[in-house]
Amino acid sequence: MVESVECAVIGAGVVGLGIARRLALAGREVVVLEAAETIGTETSSRNSEVIHAGIYYQAGSLKARLCVAGREALYRYCAERGIAHRRIGKLIVATSGEENPALERVLRKAEGNGVGDLRRLTPAEARAIEPELRCTGALLSPSTGIIDSHQLMLAYQGEAGDRGAAFAFRSPVLGGRVGEDGIDLDVGGAEGLTLRCRCVVNSAGLHAQAVARALHGLDPRHVPPRWMAKGSYYTLAGRAPFSRLVYPVPGPASLGVHVTIDLAGQCRFGPDAEWVEEIDYDVDPARATGFYAAVRRYWPGLKDGAILPGYAGIRPKVAKAGQEIDFVIQGPEAHGCRGLVNLFGIESPGLTASLALADEVALRLGIA
Ligand SMILES: Cc1cc2nc3c(=O)[nH]c(=O)nc-3n(C[C@H](O)[C@H](O)[C@H](O)COP(=O)(O)OP(=O)(O)OC[C@H]3O[C@@H](n4cnc5c(N)ncnc54)[C@H](O)[C@@H]3O)c2cc1C
Repeated sequence: MVESVECAVIGAGVVGLGIARRLALAGREVVVLEAAETIGTETSSRNSEVIHAGIYYQAGSLKARLCVAGREALYRYCAERGIAHRRIGKLIVATSGEENPALERVLRKAEGNGVGDLRRLTPAEARAIEPELRCTGALLSPSTGIIDSHQLMLAYQGEAGDRGAAFAFRSPVLGGRVGEDGIDLDVGGAEGLTLRCRCVVNSAGLHAQAVARALHGLDPRHVPPRWMAKGSYYTLAGRAPFSRLVYPVPGPASLGVHVTIDLAGQCRFGPDAEWVEEIDYDVDPARATGFYAAVRRYWPGLKDGAILPGYAGIRPKVAKAGQEIDFVIQGPEAHGCRGLVNLFGIESPGLTASLALADEVALRLGIA
């Protein structure tokens, strides 16, 4: 059976849902094709749920620009739609004199990205607001916050649905063909069909490369490699020791094992970083040793036996070189296929940037 639709969005994670909302608000006919049985079953429900300020990214990168723009848009959206969130702030801490220069580098990077509200704190000032903290210097980011990411996804889905978007679950995109008159997608599931689309947004997260490679007519040279960096979390049994998020100075592949507090007041530590070949969300209890060591650098009060394996997420990456890797958003200007936008490597801060990413995709499609 062949059916047609103006725009198909592949993937109902926070990014795909944000894009579906954006296209539906622009008056487009939209269908969201999702392999799983519901929204947000992959990376979008396996993250830190932090609204990032936009501090760390390479100046001029998509991550820097879309994080700063997306963060403010997201705070406004949460306020308007009553989505649970709190601007609780975060401390970035150095735990030895050798790490103090890294704080200065972070400060300069943040300023370059238009994040001008970071404040330097002495160890005494940091301890005055977080008595359990041990550090040799800190930066306070007042515009970092936390959010209920599931509520956010429901809001995007709801708004898109109100504007007529349709959601097809258990509908994996198996492949397709890019042609002159549009893009045909082969959709699996109980009632497989071919869907002719004027535009297609591939926001399949960890599977975006596989989807792109299955699109005949798209030159495979445009599909970047896929690397995966797993991040495991441990949860703290008992009261949170801090009232703000606490991050060590960032490492080469991740932001380091940090303290996140969710809206229910539960404290968790993570994510760490481990390169993996397979998607496997089990948390290895053997990683606890590394967590104790990492957390005790800034919280010496962590007691033996106090943390338990929590959950894991997997960062979709396009290269192994660390944090300087940018989001890849490929529109027709990059690959020459009219109506197609591919999103690759949408790791952190994809949640924070979701509204701005949606605007960027609309721009690449020439949709106002
Ligand atoms: C450990 C970790 C911590 C993070 N912390 C933060 C944070 O604190 N703040 C922040 O801003 N960002 C954070 N992020 C990043 C954020 O979670 C992601 O950028 C965001 O969730 C990506 O959303 P997505 O919609 O692109 O992908 P996903 O949520 O993975 O959605 C992709 C969807 O595509 C579907 N799909 C796949 N293949 C197909 C197919 N062939 N056909 C149909 N559907 C398909 C999948 O089932 C899935 O539902 C973190 C990420 C990780 C891994």
